[in-house]
Amino acid sequence: MSNVQAVEQEKMNTTDKISMDDLVALCKRRGFIFPASEIYGGINGFWDFGPLGILLKNNLRDRWWNDMVITPPIGPNGEPLKIVGLDSSIIQNPKVWEASGHVGGFSDPMVDCRETKKRYRADHLIVYLPNELEQENQDQSILVFVEGTPKQEIEKKIKKLKLSLSLSQCECIPLTDLDKYGYTEDYGLWLLRPNGTKKVDRSRLVAPDVKKPDTLTEARQFNLMFESSAGAVKDAASKVYLRPETAQGCFTNYKNIVDNMRVRVPFGIAQIGKAFRNEVTPRNFIYRSREFEQMEMEWFCHPDEARLWFDFWKDERKKWWEAVGVSTENLQLRQHDQDELSHYAKAGVGTVDIEYRFPFTWPGFGELEGVAHRCDFDLIQHEKHSGKKMEYFDDSVQPPRRFLPHVIEPAAGLTRGVLALLAEAYTADPSRPSKMYLKFNPSIAPVKAAVLPLVNKNGLPEIAQKLYYSMRTKFMTEYDAKSNIGKRYARHDEIGTPFCITVDNDTPKDQAVTIRFRDTMAQERVALDKVEGFVQKALKE
Ligand code: ATP
Repeated sequence: MSNVQAVEQEKMNTTDKISMDDLVALCKRRGFIFPASEIYGGINGFWDFGPLGILLKNNLRDRWWNDMVITPPIGPNGEPLKIVGLDSSIIQNPKVWEASGHVGGFSDPMVDCRETKKRYRADHLIVYLPNELEQENQDQSILVFVEGTPKQEIEKKIKKLKLSLSLSQCECIPLTDLDKYGYTEDYGLWLLRPNGTKKVDRSRLVAPDVKKPDTLTEARQFNLMFESSAGAVKDAASKVYLRPETAQGCFTNYKNIVDNMRVRVPFGIAQIGKAFRNEVTPRNFIYRSREFEQMEMEWFCHPDEARLWFDFWKDERKKWWEAVGVSTENLQLRQHDQDELSHYAKAGVGTVDIEYRFPFTWPGFGELEGVAHRCDFDLIQHEKHSGKKMEYFDDSVQPPRRFLPHVIEPAAGLTRGVLALLAEAYTADPSRPSKMYLKFNPSIAPVKAAVLPLVNKNGLPEIAQKLYYSMRTKFMTEYDAKSNIGKRYARHDEIGTPFCITVDNDTPKDQAVTIRFRDTMAQERVALDKVEGFVQKALKE
Protein backbone atom coordinates (compact mmCIF):
# COMPACT_ATOMS: atom_id res chain seq x y z
CA MET A 1 0.00 0.00 0.00
CA SER A 2 1.33 3.43 -0.86
CA ASN A 3 1.54 6.12 1.78
CA VAL A 4 -1.11 8.08 -0.06
CA GLN A 5 -3.47 5.15 0.33
CA ALA A 6 -2.42 4.80 3.96
CA VAL A 7 -3.41 8.39 4.65
CA GLU A 8 -6.72 7.78 2.88
CA GLN A 9 -7.40 4.62 4.81
CA GLU A 10 -6.59 6.30 8.08
CA LYS A 11 -9.82 8.22 7.63
CA MET A 12 -11.74 4.96 7.65
CA ASN A 13 -13.51 3.61 10.65
CA THR A 14 -10.99 2.68 13.32
CA THR A 15 -13.17 0.79 15.79
CA ASP A 16 -11.34 -2.49 15.21
CA LYS A 17 -8.00 -0.96 16.02
CA ILE A 18 -6.58 -1.70 19.46
CA SER A 19 -4.25 0.67 21.19
CA MET A 20 -0.59 -0.35 21.44
CA ASP A 21 -0.37 1.49 24.76
CA ASP A 22 -3.12 -0.73 26.19
CA LEU A 23 -1.44 -3.85 24.85
CA VAL A 24 2.00 -2.92 26.18
CA ALA A 25 0.50 -2.03 29.57
CA LEU A 26 -1.33 -5.35 29.74
CA CYS A 27 1.84 -7.24 28.83
CA LYS A 28 3.64 -5.65 31.74
CA ARG A 29 0.76 -5.87 34.24
CA ARG A 30 0.14 -9.53 33.56
CA GLY A 31 3.72 -10.69 33.19
CA PHE A 32 3.98 -11.28 29.45
CA ILE A 33 6.75 -8.89 28.44
CA PHE A 34 8.95 -6.47 30.40
CA PRO A 35 11.51 -3.93 29.16
CA ALA A 36 14.97 -5.53 29.54
CA SER A 37 17.03 -4.15 32.45
CA GLU A 38 14.09 -2.04 33.49
CA ILE A 39 15.47 -1.26 36.95
CA TYR A 40 18.38 0.47 35.19
CA GLY A 41 16.16 2.44 32.86
CA GLY A 42 15.90 -0.27 30.20
CA ILE A 43 17.91 -0.67 27.00
CA ASN A 44 16.52 0.31 23.64
CA GLY A 45 15.53 -2.63 21.46
CA PHE A 46 15.66 -5.39 24.07
CA TRP A 47 12.78 -7.06 25.89
CA ASP A 48 12.37 -9.80 28.50
CA PHE A 49 9.64 -12.39 28.31
CA GLY A 50 7.94 -12.78 31.69
CA PRO A 51 6.31 -15.92 33.13
CA LEU A 52 3.21 -15.70 30.93
CA GLY A 53 5.08 -14.47 27.84
CA ILE A 54 7.51 -17.37 27.84
CA LEU A 55 4.62 -19.85 28.06
CA LEU A 56 2.98 -18.19 25.07
CA LYS A 57 6.21 -17.97 23.07
CA ASN A 58 7.11 -21.60 23.78
CA ASN A 59 3.64 -22.74 22.69
CA LEU A 60 4.05 -20.95 19.35
CA ARG A 61 7.61 -22.23 18.97
CA ASP A 62 6.61 -25.83 19.77
CA ARG A 63 3.69 -25.68 17.39
CA TRP A 64 5.99 -24.58 14.55
CA TRP A 65 8.55 -27.27 15.41
CA ASN A 66 5.85 -29.89 15.58
CA ASP A 67 4.30 -28.86 12.26
CA MET A 68 7.67 -28.57 10.49
CA VAL A 69 9.88 -31.28 11.98
CA ILE A 70 7.79 -33.82 13.89
CA THR A 71 4.82 -34.03 11.52
CA PRO A 72 5.69 -31.96 8.43
CA PRO A 73 2.87 -31.25 5.97
CA ILE A 74 1.75 -33.68 3.31
CA GLY A 75 3.32 -32.65 -0.01
CA PRO A 76 1.63 -32.13 -3.40
CA ASN A 77 2.20 -35.82 -4.24
CA GLY A 78 0.28 -36.99 -1.16
CA GLU A 79 3.37 -38.06 0.80
CA PRO A 80 4.68 -36.47 4.01
CA LEU A 81 7.56 -34.06 3.44
CA LYS A 82 10.96 -34.69 4.98
CA ILE A 83 12.27 -31.89 7.20
CA VAL A 84 15.08 -32.31 9.72
CA GLY A 85 15.86 -30.05 12.67
CA LEU A 86 19.02 -28.16 13.56
CA ASP A 87 20.39 -25.99 16.34
CA SER A 88 23.50 -24.28 15.04
CA SER A 89 25.80 -21.96 16.93
CA ILE A 90 25.03 -18.25 17.21
CA ILE A 91 28.68 -17.41 16.59
CA GLN A 92 30.14 -18.92 13.44
CA ASN A 93 33.38 -18.53 11.54
CA PRO A 94 33.21 -14.91 10.25
CA LYS A 95 33.73 -16.25 6.72
CA VAL A 96 30.13 -17.48 6.83
CA TRP A 97 28.96 -13.86 6.89
CA GLU A 98 31.35 -12.85 4.14
CA ALA A 99 29.96 -15.64 1.96
CA SER A 100 26.35 -14.83 2.79
CA GLY A 101 26.86 -11.18 1.88
CA HIS A 102 26.13 -9.88 5.38
CA VAL A 103 29.60 -8.46 6.04
CA GLY A 104 29.57 -6.51 2.79
CA GLY A 105 25.94 -5.76 2.27
CA PHE A 106 23.75 -6.24 5.34
CA SER A 107 23.15 -2.61 5.92
CA ASP A 108 20.40 -0.04 5.90
CA PRO A 109 20.54 3.50 4.56
CA MET A 110 20.73 5.82 7.57
CA VAL A 111 20.27 9.51 8.03
CA ASP A 112 21.37 11.39 11.13
CA CYS A 113 19.91 14.57 12.53
CA ARG A 114 22.75 16.99 13.36
CA GLU A 115 20.51 18.85 15.79
CA THR A 116 18.94 16.07 17.89
CA LYS A 117 21.65 13.47 17.20
CA LYS A 118 18.90 11.00 16.39
CA ARG A 119 19.50 8.39 13.74
CA TYR A 120 16.80 7.18 11.37
CA ARG A 121 16.45 4.52 8.74
CA ALA A 122 15.96 6.53 5.55
CA ASP A 123 13.26 4.16 4.32
CA HIS A 124 11.30 4.70 7.54
CA LEU A 125 10.97 8.44 7.00
CA ILE A 126 8.18 10.12 5.07
CA VAL A 127 7.71 13.64 3.75
CA TYR A 128 4.62 15.64 2.90
CA LEU A 129 4.80 17.38 -0.45
CA PRO A 130 2.08 19.83 -1.49
CA ASN A 131 0.57 18.56 -4.73
CA GLU A 132 -0.91 21.88 -5.86
CA LEU A 133 0.78 25.10 -6.97
CA GLU A 134 -1.29 27.30 -4.66
CA GLN A 135 0.13 25.43 -1.72
CA GLU A 136 3.65 25.23 -2.94
CA ASN A 137 6.02 27.92 -1.87
CA GLN A 138 9.60 27.43 -2.88
CA ASP A 139 10.89 28.72 0.45
CA GLN A 140 8.56 26.70 2.59
CA SER A 141 9.79 23.86 4.76
CA ILE A 142 9.15 20.26 3.84
CA LEU A 143 8.24 18.28 6.90
CA VAL A 144 9.84 14.91 7.59
CA PHE A 145 8.23 12.39 9.93
CA VAL A 146 8.85 8.85 11.08
CA GLU A 147 6.43 6.59 9.24
CA GLY A 148 3.36 5.92 11.36
CA THR A 149 3.43 9.28 13.19
CA PRO A 150 -0.16 10.05 14.24
CA LYS A 151 -1.95 12.64 12.15
CA GLN A 152 -2.61 14.88 15.16
CA GLU A 153 1.11 15.15 15.77
CA ILE A 154 1.74 16.10 12.16
CA GLU A 155 -0.97 18.75 12.28
CA LYS A 156 0.46 20.11 15.53
CA LYS A 157 3.83 20.62 13.89
CA ILE A 158 2.30 22.35 10.86
CA LYS A 159 0.59 24.75 13.24
CA LYS A 160 3.71 25.29 15.32
CA LEU A 161 5.73 26.21 12.24
CA LYS A 162 2.88 28.42 11.01
CA LEU A 163 2.77 26.68 7.63
CA SER A 164 -0.21 27.11 5.38
CA LEU A 165 -0.33 23.48 4.45
CA SER A 166 -3.34 21.25 4.16
CA LEU A 167 -2.57 17.55 4.62
CA SER A 168 -5.41 16.49 2.39
CA GLN A 169 -3.70 18.33 -0.48
CA CYS A 170 -0.35 16.77 0.17
CA GLU A 171 1.28 13.73 -1.25
CA CYS A 172 2.91 11.58 1.41
CA ILE A 173 6.00 9.86 0.02
CA PRO A 174 9.00 7.97 1.42
CA LEU A 175 12.03 10.22 1.88
CA THR A 176 13.99 7.77 -0.25
CA ASP A 177 11.68 8.63 -3.18
CA LEU A 178 12.18 12.38 -2.88
CA ASP A 179 14.40 12.63 -5.93
CA LYS A 180 11.69 11.09 -8.09
CA TYR A 181 9.49 14.13 -7.40
CA GLY A 182 9.77 17.69 -8.61
CA TYR A 183 7.94 20.66 -10.05
CA THR A 184 7.74 22.66 -13.25
CA GLU A 185 7.84 26.46 -13.45
CA ASP A 186 4.88 26.47 -15.84
CA TYR A 187 2.38 24.37 -14.02
CA GLY A 188 3.86 24.10 -10.56
CA LEU A 189 2.30 20.74 -9.93
CA TRP A 190 4.28 18.19 -7.99
CA LEU A 191 4.95 15.41 -10.38
CA LEU A 192 6.90 12.24 -10.78
CA ARG A 193 9.86 13.94 -12.45
CA PRO A 194 9.94 13.88 -16.22
CA ASN A 195 12.90 15.42 -18.03
CA GLY A 196 13.33 19.09 -17.31
CA THR A 197 11.49 19.04 -14.01
CA LYS A 198 13.37 20.56 -11.11
CA LYS A 199 14.33 18.45 -8.12
CA VAL A 200 12.92 19.12 -4.67
CA ASP A 201 15.47 21.07 -2.68
CA ARG A 202 16.72 18.89 0.19
CA SER A 203 17.87 21.84 2.27
CA ARG A 204 14.19 22.56 2.94
CA LEU A 205 13.72 19.31 4.86
CA VAL A 206 12.75 19.75 8.51
CA ALA A 207 13.65 16.69 10.58
CA PRO A 208 11.32 15.17 13.19
CA ASP A 209 11.58 16.94 16.58
CA VAL A 210 13.29 20.08 15.22
CA LYS A 211 11.98 23.40 13.96
CA LYS A 212 14.66 24.56 11.55
CA PRO A 213 15.41 22.99 8.17
CA ASP A 214 18.54 21.35 6.88
CA THR A 215 19.70 19.28 9.85
CA LEU A 216 19.52 15.86 8.16
CA THR A 217 22.64 14.26 6.72
CA GLU A 218 22.75 12.37 3.43
CA ALA A 219 21.85 8.69 3.73
CA ARG A 220 24.78 6.46 4.73
CA GLN A 221 25.03 2.69 4.93
CA PHE A 222 25.07 1.23 8.45
CA ASN A 223 25.96 -2.42 9.11
CA LEU A 224 23.42 -4.23 11.22
CA MET A 225 25.61 -6.99 12.61
CA PHE A 226 26.63 -7.01 16.26
CA GLU A 227 30.35 -7.56 16.65
CA SER A 228 32.22 -9.28 19.44
CA SER A 229 35.58 -10.96 19.78
CA ALA A 230 36.42 -14.58 20.51
CA GLY A 231 39.48 -15.43 22.60
CA ALA A 232 41.70 -13.57 25.02
CA VAL A 233 43.27 -11.18 22.56
CA LYS A 234 41.06 -8.60 20.95
CA ASP A 235 42.31 -7.85 17.46
CA ALA A 236 41.14 -7.99 13.85
CA ALA A 237 41.62 -11.76 13.75
CA SER A 238 39.41 -12.36 16.79
CA LYS A 239 36.46 -10.42 15.43
CA VAL A 240 33.23 -12.43 15.34
CA TYR A 241 29.57 -11.60 14.74
CA LEU A 242 26.34 -12.53 16.45
CA ARG A 243 24.25 -14.16 13.74
CA PRO A 244 21.75 -11.82 12.07
CA GLU A 245 19.64 -14.77 10.85
CA THR A 246 19.38 -18.47 11.63
CA ALA A 247 19.28 -19.45 7.95
CA GLN A 248 23.05 -19.59 7.34
CA GLY A 249 23.48 -22.40 9.87
CA CYS A 250 21.20 -24.51 7.65
CA PHE A 251 23.36 -23.80 4.60
CA THR A 252 26.68 -24.47 6.31
CA ASN A 253 25.34 -27.79 7.60
CA TYR A 254 23.68 -28.74 4.31
CA LYS A 255 26.57 -30.98 3.28
CA ASN A 256 26.77 -32.67 6.69
CA ILE A 257 23.09 -33.43 6.54
CA VAL A 258 23.06 -34.70 2.95
CA ASP A 259 26.09 -36.91 3.61
CA ASN A 260 24.97 -38.30 6.96
CA MET A 261 21.21 -38.17 7.31
CA ARG A 262 20.02 -40.25 4.33
CA VAL A 263 17.84 -37.38 3.11
CA ARG A 264 16.94 -36.96 -0.56
CA VAL A 265 16.19 -33.71 -2.35
CA PRO A 266 13.58 -32.28 -1.91
CA PHE A 267 13.95 -31.95 1.84
CA GLY A 268 14.14 -29.20 4.44
CA ILE A 269 16.33 -28.09 7.34
CA ALA A 270 14.49 -26.23 10.08
CA GLN A 271 15.88 -24.14 12.86
CA ILE A 272 14.51 -21.94 15.63
CA GLY A 273 16.75 -19.57 17.49
CA LYS A 274 17.94 -16.13 18.42
CA ALA A 275 19.09 -13.63 15.84
CA PHE A 276 20.62 -10.23 16.48
CA ARG A 277 20.42 -7.08 14.40
CA ASN A 278 21.65 -3.71 15.50
CA GLU A 279 18.47 -2.11 14.19
CA VAL A 280 18.83 1.62 13.77
CA THR A 281 15.39 2.44 15.03
CA PRO A 282 14.04 -0.41 17.14
CA ARG A 283 10.37 0.31 17.69
CA ASN A 284 6.81 -0.82 17.94
CA PHE A 285 7.41 -2.90 21.07
CA ILE A 286 8.74 -6.35 20.12
CA TYR A 287 8.03 -5.91 16.39
CA ARG A 288 11.47 -4.54 15.64
CA SER A 289 13.95 -5.36 18.36
CA ARG A 290 17.68 -5.91 18.36
CA GLU A 291 17.53 -9.42 19.78
CA PHE A 292 14.72 -11.64 18.55
CA GLU A 293 13.88 -15.19 17.58
CA GLN A 294 13.32 -16.65 14.15
CA MET A 295 11.75 -19.85 12.91
CA GLU A 296 13.35 -20.56 9.53
CA MET A 297 13.20 -23.52 7.20
CA GLU A 298 15.38 -23.97 4.14
CA TRP A 299 13.69 -26.21 1.57
CA PHE A 300 16.18 -27.69 -0.93
CA CYS A 301 14.65 -28.71 -4.24
CA HIS A 302 15.44 -29.25 -7.91
CA PRO A 303 15.59 -25.88 -9.76
CA ASP A 304 12.79 -26.97 -12.11
CA GLU A 305 10.48 -27.52 -9.15
CA ALA A 306 11.24 -24.27 -7.33
CA ARG A 307 8.11 -22.49 -8.60
CA LEU A 308 5.88 -25.33 -7.43
CA TRP A 309 7.45 -25.39 -3.97
CA PHE A 310 7.37 -21.62 -3.65
CA ASP A 311 3.60 -21.65 -4.24
CA PHE A 312 3.19 -24.62 -1.93
CA TRP A 313 5.04 -23.02 0.96
CA LYS A 314 3.46 -19.58 0.71
CA ASP A 315 -0.03 -21.10 0.91
CA GLU A 316 0.96 -23.59 3.57
CA ARG A 317 2.50 -20.92 5.80
CA LYS A 318 -0.48 -18.60 5.52
CA LYS A 319 -2.76 -21.49 6.49
CA TRP A 320 -0.49 -22.22 9.45
CA TRP A 321 -0.86 -18.73 10.87
CA GLU A 322 -4.61 -19.09 10.52
CA ALA A 323 -4.48 -22.44 12.34
CA VAL A 324 -2.71 -20.86 15.34
CA GLY A 325 -5.45 -18.28 15.65
CA VAL A 326 -4.64 -15.36 13.34
CA SER A 327 -7.80 -14.32 11.49
CA THR A 328 -7.78 -14.42 7.70
CA GLU A 329 -8.93 -10.81 7.43
CA ASN A 330 -5.83 -9.63 9.30
CA LEU A 331 -3.44 -11.56 7.05
CA GLN A 332 -2.34 -10.87 3.52
CA LEU A 333 0.22 -12.12 1.06
CA ARG A 334 2.28 -9.40 -0.59
CA GLN A 335 4.63 -10.03 -3.48
CA HIS A 336 7.81 -7.92 -3.23
CA ASP A 337 8.33 -5.33 -5.92
CA GLN A 338 11.38 -5.84 -8.11
CA ASP A 339 13.28 -3.00 -6.40
CA GLU A 340 12.85 -4.40 -2.86
CA LEU A 341 14.11 -7.88 -3.72
CA SER A 342 17.20 -9.06 -1.90
CA HIS A 343 20.30 -9.82 -3.93
CA TYR A 344 19.56 -13.56 -3.92
CA ALA A 345 15.87 -13.32 -4.80
CA LYS A 346 16.26 -11.25 -7.97
CA ALA A 347 16.92 -14.20 -10.23
CA GLY A 348 14.19 -16.41 -8.84
CA VAL A 349 10.48 -16.39 -8.33
CA GLY A 350 10.89 -13.58 -5.83
CA THR A 351 9.66 -13.09 -2.30
CA VAL A 352 6.21 -13.04 -0.83
CA ASP A 353 5.63 -11.56 2.59
CA ILE A 354 2.93 -12.90 4.84
CA GLU A 355 1.77 -9.70 6.47
CA TYR A 356 -0.31 -9.04 9.55
CA ARG A 357 -2.45 -6.03 10.30
CA PHE A 358 -0.57 -4.90 13.44
CA PRO A 359 -2.19 -2.17 15.57
CA PHE A 360 0.53 0.31 14.55
CA THR A 361 0.28 -0.52 10.84
CA TRP A 362 -3.54 -0.50 10.92
CA PRO A 363 -5.29 -0.38 8.51
CA GLY A 364 -2.14 -1.37 6.63
CA PHE A 365 -0.04 -4.47 7.17
CA GLY A 366 3.49 -5.31 8.37
CA GLU A 367 5.74 -8.30 7.69
CA LEU A 368 5.27 -11.37 9.86
CA GLU A 369 7.05 -13.92 7.69
CA GLY A 370 8.86 -13.86 4.36
CA VAL A 371 8.75 -16.73 1.88
CA ALA A 372 11.74 -16.28 -0.41
CA HIS A 373 13.11 -18.08 -3.43
CA ARG A 374 16.82 -17.87 -2.63
CA CYS A 375 17.80 -19.76 -5.81
CA ASP A 376 21.21 -21.43 -5.41
CA PHE A 377 22.71 -18.17 -4.17
CA ASP A 378 23.76 -19.41 -0.72
CA LEU A 379 25.12 -22.78 -1.82
CA ILE A 380 27.15 -21.16 -4.60
CA GLN A 381 28.52 -18.58 -2.19
CA HIS A 382 29.54 -21.20 0.37
CA GLU A 383 31.05 -23.34 -2.36
CA LYS A 384 33.14 -20.36 -3.51
CA HIS A 385 34.21 -19.22 -0.05
CA SER A 386 34.81 -22.64 1.54
CA GLY A 387 36.08 -24.51 -1.51
CA LYS A 388 33.73 -27.43 -0.64
CA LYS A 389 31.48 -28.88 -3.34
CA MET A 390 27.79 -28.49 -2.59
CA GLU A 391 26.39 -30.33 -5.62
CA TYR A 392 23.74 -32.94 -5.05
CA PHE A 393 23.99 -36.31 -6.79
CA ASP A 394 20.57 -37.65 -7.71
CA ASP A 395 20.57 -41.33 -8.70
CA SER A 396 16.82 -41.69 -8.35
CA VAL A 397 16.41 -40.72 -12.03
CA GLN A 398 17.84 -42.12 -15.23
CA PRO A 399 20.38 -40.98 -16.19
CA PRO A 400 21.57 -39.90 -12.71
CA ARG A 401 22.18 -36.16 -12.47
CA ARG A 402 24.18 -33.63 -10.49
CA PHE A 403 22.79 -30.24 -9.59
CA LEU A 404 22.89 -27.47 -7.05
CA PRO A 405 19.50 -27.38 -5.35
CA HIS A 406 17.45 -24.20 -5.26
CA VAL A 407 16.10 -23.07 -1.93
CA ILE A 408 12.67 -21.91 -0.87
CA GLU A 409 12.78 -20.29 2.55
CA PRO A 410 9.80 -19.63 4.79
CA ALA A 411 11.36 -17.32 7.42
CA ALA A 412 9.07 -16.37 10.27
CA GLY A 413 9.61 -14.20 13.31
CA LEU A 414 8.79 -16.02 16.54
CA THR A 415 8.96 -12.77 18.51
CA ARG A 416 6.84 -10.95 15.92
CA GLY A 417 4.49 -13.93 15.91
CA VAL A 418 3.93 -13.50 19.65
CA LEU A 419 3.04 -9.86 19.05
CA ALA A 420 0.60 -10.85 16.30
CA LEU A 421 -1.03 -13.41 18.61
CA LEU A 422 -1.35 -10.88 21.43
CA ALA A 423 -2.80 -8.22 19.14
CA GLU A 424 -5.16 -10.71 17.55
CA ALA A 425 -6.32 -12.02 20.92
CA TYR A 426 -6.86 -8.62 22.53
CA THR A 427 -10.64 -8.17 22.63
CA ALA A 428 -12.32 -5.21 24.26
CA ASP A 429 -15.43 -6.03 26.28
CA PRO A 430 -16.76 -3.20 28.42
CA SER A 431 -19.28 -5.57 30.04
CA ARG A 432 -16.59 -7.44 31.99
CA PRO A 433 -14.78 -6.28 35.11
CA SER A 434 -11.49 -6.62 33.20
CA LYS A 435 -12.97 -4.60 30.25
CA MET A 436 -11.09 -6.93 27.88
CA TYR A 437 -9.95 -10.49 27.46
CA LEU A 438 -7.32 -12.33 25.45
CA LYS A 439 -9.04 -14.63 23.03
CA PHE A 440 -6.18 -17.05 22.37
CA ASN A 441 -6.74 -20.24 20.49
CA PRO A 442 -6.86 -22.70 23.49
CA SER A 443 -3.93 -24.74 22.13
CA ILE A 444 -1.72 -21.60 22.20
CA ALA A 445 -3.02 -20.04 25.45
CA PRO A 446 -0.31 -19.85 28.13
CA VAL A 447 -2.57 -21.32 30.82
CA LYS A 448 -5.15 -23.83 29.62
CA ALA A 449 -7.25 -24.17 32.75
CA ALA A 450 -7.54 -22.67 36.22
CA VAL A 451 -8.93 -24.62 39.15
CA LEU A 452 -10.65 -22.28 41.60
CA PRO A 453 -12.18 -23.30 44.93
CA LEU A 454 -15.04 -20.86 45.49
CA VAL A 455 -14.11 -20.46 49.16
CA ASN A 456 -11.16 -21.64 51.20
CA LYS A 457 -13.23 -23.87 53.52
CA ASN A 458 -16.00 -26.51 53.59
CA GLY A 459 -13.71 -29.12 52.06
CA LEU A 460 -13.57 -27.26 48.72
CA PRO A 461 -9.76 -26.73 48.63
CA GLU A 462 -9.21 -30.47 49.10
CA ILE A 463 -11.44 -31.38 46.13
CA ALA A 464 -9.96 -28.58 44.01
CA GLN A 465 -6.39 -29.62 44.80
CA LYS A 466 -7.08 -33.24 43.90
CA LEU A 467 -8.41 -32.12 40.52
CA TYR A 468 -5.47 -29.75 40.07
CA TYR A 469 -2.88 -32.41 40.90
CA SER A 470 -4.32 -34.64 38.22
CA MET A 471 -4.74 -31.94 35.54
CA ARG A 472 -1.31 -30.33 36.00
CA THR A 473 0.40 -33.43 34.64
CA LYS A 474 -1.57 -33.21 31.37
CA PHE A 475 -1.53 -29.51 30.48
CA MET A 476 -0.66 -26.11 31.97
CA THR A 477 -3.06 -25.67 34.87
CA GLU A 478 -3.12 -23.06 37.61
CA TYR A 479 -4.49 -23.46 41.10
CA ASP A 480 -5.82 -20.14 42.29
CA ALA A 481 -7.51 -19.67 45.66
CA LYS A 482 -6.72 -16.01 46.34
CA SER A 483 -9.27 -13.16 46.35
CA ASN A 484 -12.93 -13.28 45.35
CA ILE A 485 -14.08 -15.35 42.42
CA GLY A 486 -14.91 -12.28 40.27
CA LYS A 487 -11.34 -11.01 40.55
CA ARG A 488 -9.98 -14.44 39.72
CA TYR A 489 -12.16 -14.66 36.60
CA ALA A 490 -11.02 -11.16 35.62
CA ARG A 491 -7.34 -12.10 35.90
CA HIS A 492 -7.83 -15.22 33.84
CA ASP A 493 -9.70 -13.23 31.20
CA GLU A 494 -6.71 -10.90 31.05
CA ILE A 495 -4.21 -13.70 30.56
CA GLY A 496 -6.49 -15.58 28.17
CA THR A 497 -7.19 -18.79 30.14
CA PRO A 498 -9.92 -20.52 28.12
CA PHE A 499 -11.43 -22.55 30.99
CA CYS A 500 -11.99 -21.63 34.64
CA ILE A 501 -13.12 -24.59 36.72
CA THR A 502 -14.88 -23.65 39.92
CA VAL A 503 -15.35 -26.02 42.82
CA ASP A 504 -18.37 -24.66 44.72
CA ASN A 505 -20.50 -25.60 47.69
CA ASP A 506 -22.57 -28.04 45.62
CA THR A 507 -19.50 -29.98 44.47
CA PRO A 508 -19.23 -32.19 47.59
CA LYS A 509 -22.88 -33.17 47.04
CA ASP A 510 -23.18 -33.56 43.26
CA GLN A 511 -19.52 -34.37 42.46
CA ALA A 512 -19.65 -31.76 39.67
CA VAL A 513 -17.93 -28.44 38.96
CA THR A 514 -18.72 -25.36 36.89
CA ILE A 515 -16.67 -24.67 33.79
CA ARG A 516 -16.68 -21.00 32.79
CA PHE A 517 -15.86 -20.32 29.16
CA ARG A 518 -13.62 -17.30 28.61
CA ASP A 519 -15.14 -16.04 25.36
CA THR A 520 -18.84 -16.32 26.16
CA MET A 521 -18.64 -16.27 29.98
CA ALA A 522 -21.22 -19.06 29.80
CA GLN A 523 -21.04 -21.64 32.56
CA GLU A 524 -21.63 -25.35 32.31
CA ARG A 525 -21.93 -27.99 35.01
CA VAL A 526 -19.63 -30.95 34.35
CA ALA A 527 -19.03 -34.10 36.43
CA LEU A 528 -15.74 -33.98 38.34
CA ASP A 529 -14.41 -37.10 36.66
CA LYS A 530 -15.18 -35.73 33.17
CA VAL A 531 -13.49 -32.32 33.49
CA GLU A 532 -10.03 -33.35 32.41
CA GLY A 533 -11.29 -35.15 29.30
CA PHE A 534 -13.50 -32.17 28.51
CA VAL A 535 -10.58 -29.72 28.53
CA GLN A 536 -8.31 -32.11 26.69
CA LYS A 537 -10.85 -32.50 23.90
CA ALA A 538 -11.29 -28.73 23.62
CA LEU A 539 -7.52 -28.24 23.33
CA LYS A 540 -7.37 -30.54 20.33
CA GLU A 541 -10.20 -28.80 18.43
P1 ATP B 1 12.04 -6.18 8.04
O1 ATP B 1 11.79 -5.83 6.58
O2 ATP B 1 10.84 -5.99 8.91
O3 ATP B 1 13.29 -5.57 8.60
P2 ATP B 1 13.29 -8.56 7.06
O4 ATP B 1 12.64 -8.71 5.72
O5 ATP B 1 14.65 -7.99 7.14
O6 ATP B 1 12.30 -7.76 8.06
P3 ATP B 1 13.92 -11.33 7.32
O7 ATP B 1 15.37 -11.14 7.20
O8 ATP B 1 13.17 -11.91 6.18
O9 ATP B 1 13.24 -9.95 7.79
O10 ATP B 1 13.66 -12.17 8.65
C1 ATP B 1 12.58 -13.08 8.77
C2 ATP B 1 11.64 -12.67 9.87
O11 ATP B 1 12.34 -12.34 11.05
C3 ATP B 1 10.79 -11.44 9.57
O12 ATP B 1 9.67 -11.77 8.80
C4 ATP B 1 10.40 -10.98 10.95
O13 ATP B 1 9.25 -11.69 11.42
C5 ATP B 1 11.60 -11.37 11.79
N1 ATP B 1 12.42 -10.19 12.07
C6 ATP B 1 13.33 -9.61 11.26
N2 ATP B 1 13.90 -8.54 11.86
C7 ATP B 1 13.34 -8.45 13.09
C8 ATP B 1 13.52 -7.57 14.20
N3 ATP B 1 14.41 -6.58 14.18
N4 ATP B 1 12.75 -7.76 15.31
C9 ATP B 1 11.87 -8.78 15.37
N5 ATP B 1 11.67 -9.65 14.35
C10 ATP B 1 12.38 -9.50 13.23
